[in-house]
Amino acid sequence: MSDVDPSCLFCRIVAGQLPADKVFEDEAILAFKDIHPQAPFHCLVIPKVHVATLNDFSAGQLELVGGLLLTAKRIAAEHGLPGYRIAMNVNREGGQVVFHAHLHVLGGRPLQGALG
Ligand code: 5GP
Ligand code: ZN
Repeated sequence: MSDVDPSCLFCRIVAGQLPADKVFEDEAILAFKDIHPQAPFHCLVIPKVHVATLNDFSAGQLELVGGLLLTAKRIAAEHGLPGYRIAMNVNREGGQVVFHAHLHVLGGRPLQGALG
């Protein structure tokens, strides 16, 4: 599998070909504000390599998968979120629209309501 999909929106953000409001970046992970926020704070945490869905991560990418969660925790702390919600939609049936795996990090108000 290629590390980059030129037709992928989030690969184009990683490559700097599309703008994004970045909140975190290291060599493997990028986080940026969601363009249509569903809470006062809403960002997306993505691997820089192209992985279409959670189902497409390999066992050799355990560190990357864990890094996405730890990055979400770090961003929440840096933005002073006392509580927050992490969501990852998987496949169309799971609500996924952009097929480059991403965690949603939502917060900034008390979060309630059904997840599904
Ligand atoms: P999904 O439903 O795939 O889990 O979520 C995709 C998310 O990406 C949506 O919340 C949507 O608002 C966000 N999104 C779609 N296009 C863009 C974009 O060009 N820039 C940013 N920052 N977010 C986007
Ligand atoms: Zn991609």
